[in-house]
Amino acid sequence: MGLVVQKYGGSSVADAEGIKRVARRIVDTKKAGHQVVVVVSAMGDTTDELIDLAEQVSPIPAGREFDMLLTAGERISMALLAMAIKNLGHEAQSFTGSQAGVITDSVHNKARIIDVTPGRIRTALDEGNIAIVAGFQGVSQDKKDITTLGRGGSDTTAVALAAALDAEVCEIYTDVDGVFTADPRVVKKARKMDWIAFEDMLELASSGSKVLLHRCVEYARRYNIPIHVRSSFSGLPGTWVSNEPPQGDRPMEQAIISGVSHDTSEAKITVVGVPDKPGEAATIFRAIADAEINIDMVVQNVSAAATGLTDISFTLPKTEGHKAMEALTRAQSVIAFDSLRYDDQIGKISLVGAGMKTNPGVTATFFEALSNAGVNIELISTSEIRISVVTRVDDVKPAVQAVHSAFGLDSDSDEAVVYGGTGR
Ligand code: ADP
Ligand code: ASP
Ligand code: MG
Repeated sequence: MGLVVQKYGGSSVADAEGIKRVARRIVDTKKAGHQVVVVVSAMGDTTDELIDLAEQVSPIPAGREFDMLLTAGERISMALLAMAIKNLGHEAQSFTGSQAGVITDSVHNKARIIDVTPGRIRTALDEGNIAIVAGFQGVSQDKKDITTLGRGGSDTTAVALAAALDAEVCEIYTDVDGVFTADPRVVKKARKMDWIAFEDMLELASSGSKVLLHRCVEYARRYNIPIHVRSSFSGLPGTWVSNEPPQGDRPMEQAIISGVSHDTSEAKITVVGVPDKPGEAATIFRAIADAEINIDMVVQNVSAAATGLTDISFTLPKTEGHKAMEALTRAQSVIAFDSLRYDDQIGKISLVGAGMKTNPGVTATFFEALSNAGVNIELISTSEIRISVVTRVDDVKPAVQAVHSAFGLDSDSDEAVVYGGTGR
């Protein structure tokens, strides 16, 4: 029996009862003979509440202090969980990200893990303890400051520790029974998958399925760590995410379409009246990159012949909207565009599936479904295994439901269960 890393998300430890329930589950795993490392998120919506609080004090807080504040959430849950386990008669020790050896770069609020040196975790395990690690945080290699890994970052902590400790599996416990063909909060008839390949999960995660964080899946693929996504509220087997389908009595096949994802966390910026000559787009995106902002979709309109001016639109996380508008305003002296438009009432819908490469007609069916649902499309982007569109935010729900049905993904059995969480 090997080492297991288990990660419990905020909804699984939302209150004292949740913490005690999770503690029992951890103890059961230990009793089954495993060494157990647990990564825990902040309780319920604690992180959002801390962010709201910071905004009331300072609209653009310093990254270092913001990270210091946010890591407090995970510290609360790790200590309470260790106490609950001890109360069940088992030994547990809690560790901050820094104590657990999670070393990052120094980009506050979205630091990247560059090394994991889990010496103290190894020692704790060797001494027979259950190790509890605060998710979503680390310490910067150069300045030794406390950093956070970006929203949902506990998933990445879990996989990084699983890789560093050579764990058998990384179990991600959440408030739904696994990875579904769409967000069960939006599509009641979403179907749970038994298995999904890393490649498809990466696309789902990067296009908004927050059940797993994109970076965590990337990390798991690089180190070939199988992930088991499952509910902490039920005993049901969840979804395996790995390179190859597990060999069971019933072989699992790769579906043509894996699922439909959506994302309402992005905004759209349009740079209006950009001179249509070489170098202008480069200057715009250099200004955005220098502000350390990641962008997603980009479109440039055909320029009006009469004026020689064009519009360039791109999407980015809403949380970066303010910074991006400032960076572009500063760049206006160089680029000489007319104006900037900011729109945060957008949503993105994506269809993901490896079978897209070889099955003609997928794109046509996708657009027909949107058209039948009366949804207007503002931007389009594609990859080999994904099609994404941007629409008005109010159209997202009907669009996801329409596309899900059009590809025959609706389940005819049980409705997907959402056990907890607020969906925030
Ligand atoms: P945790 O607090 O456990 O990290 P999250 O809220 O980050 O949980 O992720 C779980 C949520 O992800 C679910 O409650 C569900 O609403 C959402 N979700 C989005 N897309 C999917 C999907 N394809 N399958 C399952 N859940 C999804
Ligand atoms: N508590 C952090 C968040 O809400 C990290 C996590 O839950 O993964 O984003
Ligand atoms: Mg999460």
